[in-house]
Amino acid sequence: MSDDIPFDKRFDLPPDTVEEVVPGVRRVLCNNPSPFTYKGTVSYIIGRGQVAIVDPGPLDAAHSQALLDAVRGETVTHIFVTHTHRDHSPGVPAIKAATGALVLAEGPHRASRPLNVGEAPRLDASNDTDFRPDRALADGEVVSGNGFTIEAVTTPGHTANHMAFAFREANLLFSGDHVMAWSTPVVAPPDGAMSDYMASLDKLTRRSEPIYLPGHGAMVRDAPNFVQHYIRHRQGREASILHRLSKGEADIPTIVRAVYIGLDPRLVRAAGLSVLAHLEDLVTRGVVATDGPPAIDGRYRLV
Ligand SMILES: [Zn+2]
Repeated sequence: MSDDIPFDKRFDLPPDTVEEVVPGVRRVLCNNPSPFTYKGTVSYIIGRGQVAIVDPGPLDAAHSQALLDAVRGETVTHIFVTHTHRDHSPGVPAIKAATGALVLAEGPHRASRPLNVGEAPRLDASNDTDFRPDRALADGEVVSGNGFTIEAVTTPGHTANHMAFAFREANLLFSGDHVMAWSTPVVAPPDGAMSDYMASLDKLTRRSEPIYLPGHGAMVRDAPNFVQHYIRHRQGREASILHRLSKGEADIPTIVRAVYIGLDPRLVRAAGLSVLAHLEDLVTRGVVATDGPPAIDGRYRLV
C-alpha cells in the first residue's frame, strides 16, 4: 500500500557525528534506531555562532554530549521542540542546563480528544508528559535569532501539540514526524487524530518550502509534491478500509489483515491504532457506524 509514496530510505549518517545537511543547518543522529524511529532521532543545529537546536532528542547522555560538542564555542539561544514523544523532547533539560537557551514549543503533551470511558492513553510509554516549554508558540508566530528567523507552524495529527518550524532564510521546514522521507508517521488515538493530521497535510500544500528536514531519516526533497503523495496515500488507505467494510461488518484486526499486506509484525499494534484513527474520522463524518465511541475492540460497518 505504501509503494505509492516515493520514499527515500537512504540515510547513512554515523550516530552522534555532526554534519552540515544544507548551508546553515547541521544535523546529529542519535543512536536510537527502531521500527518507529528508523535510524534514530535527528537533531538539528540552526545557524553559526549564535544557534538554535531543533529536537534535542531522547534521554541519551551520549547524544546530548554530541550536540554540546557540536556547538562548542558557540552560544545556543533557542531550543525548538516539534512534539513531546520520548524520542524528541526528554533531551531538552540537559541542553537547557548546559546552555540556558529558551525552550519553545506548542505546549505540554496532551491527547487529541477526551478519553472515552475505560480508555487509557495507548502509547503512554512513548509520551514525555514532563515537558514544559519556557514559552508556548502560537501558529504563525515568528521567532528571530541572530541570523535566523523561525516561523511556528502548528501541525497537529501525529500528536495534538505537533509543531513544524519554517526557517525563512533557508526556505525550508523542520517537519518533525509530520512528514518524513522514509515512512508515514503513526497516527494513534487518543494522542493522535486522523482528521487533524489530514488538515495539517492540507495546510502544508499552501506552503512553498521545497525542502523539509524531518525528525527521522533523510531530507524530503520536492516537498510540496511529496505531501500530495502523502495525502493520496491516506485517501487510499481510507478507501481500502471502506472496501473491506463493503464486504460486511469487521473488527480492527480483520481490517488490518485486509489492508496491510506484508506488515512487519512489530508494527501490528501501531497499524491497528492507525486503522482506529481512520475509523474515528469516518464515524465523525457519518460514513461508518459502531456501537458507542470508536474503540480498538469495536466492530465497524458502513452506514
Ligand atoms: Zn513522534
